Amino acid sequence: MIDYSIFEQNLSAVRARMVQACERSGRPVDAVRLLPVTKNHPVAAVEYVLRSGMGAVGENRVQEAADKHSSCNTGLQWELIGHLQSNKAQDAVAIFDRIQSVDSLKLLRRLDRFAGEQDKTLAILLQCNTGEDPNKHGFKVSEADLVLETALGLEHLRVDGLMTIAPLSENPDVARAAFEALRCLRDSLTERFAVPLPELSMGMTGDLEAAIAAGSTQIRVGTALFGEREY
Ligand SMILES: *Cc1c(COP(=O)(O)O)cnc(C)c1O
Repeated sequence: MIDYSIFEQNLSAVRARMVQACERSGRPVDAVRLLPVTKNHPVAAVEYVLRSGMGAVGENRVQEAADKHSSCNTGLQWELIGHLQSNKAQDAVAIFDRIQSVDSLKLLRRLDRFAGEQDKTLAILLQCNTGEDPNKHGFKVSEADLVLETALGLEHLRVDGLMTIAPLSENPDVARAAFEALRCLRDSLTERFAVPLPELSMGMTGDLEAAIAAGSTQIRVGTALFGEREY
C-alpha cells in the first residue's frame, strides 16, 4: 500500500484533471464528484479516504466491503459498483448506501424486497451497457424503458440515475460514444418518465476526461489514487 503522502499527491493530481476537464467542457468544477474506489486494496485505503475528508468509497464485492465496513465505518457512504449476484442481495442492502450496478429485473425486485424488510429506502443506479461490450454487465439501451418503469414502481428503491463502464479500447472515441449514449439515454428517460435521474456515474482512471466532457456527475477512480490493485 502506498504512503498517505503519495495518496495526497495522487488526489491532487486527479482533482487537477477534473478541474481541467470541467473547464474544457464549460462545466462548473463542482458539477462532478469523485468516488474513490478502494476495491482490492487493504482497509488502509478506506482510512486514507476518511482522513482526506472525502465521504464515500466504491467497492465491487460484498464480502470484501463487509470486512472493511466492520473495521472502518465512521460515517462513510458505501457504494457498490460491481456486479451483484442475487443471492448476495440481502447482505448488500445491509452494507451499502447505494448500489450502482443494478443490472437485472430480478435483482431490482430482490433489492426492493430486502430494503423493505430492512426498513430502508435504497438508492440505486441502473447500469446500462451503452458500449455494447459483451464482457460487461448492464441493461441494453432497448431494455431501459421497462427497467425504469419497473424500478419506479418499487416502493423501497430510489432511482438516482444511470451508470456505465466504457469498453476498454485504444480508440478514445469508443469510450466517448458510450458516455454520450448514457447521457442521451438519461435525457430521453427523464423526458418520457418525468423523473429527474440526476446522477450519471461514468469515467474511471483512463477515461475520466471523456466522461466529464459527456456530462458525468460522478467519476469512479481507483488506480490513479491508490496505484495498481494489490489483489
Ligand atoms: C475498478 C472499477 C473502477 C475504478 O477503475 P480504475 O481504472 O482503477 O480507476 C471504476 N468503476 C468500476 C465499476 C470498477 O469496477
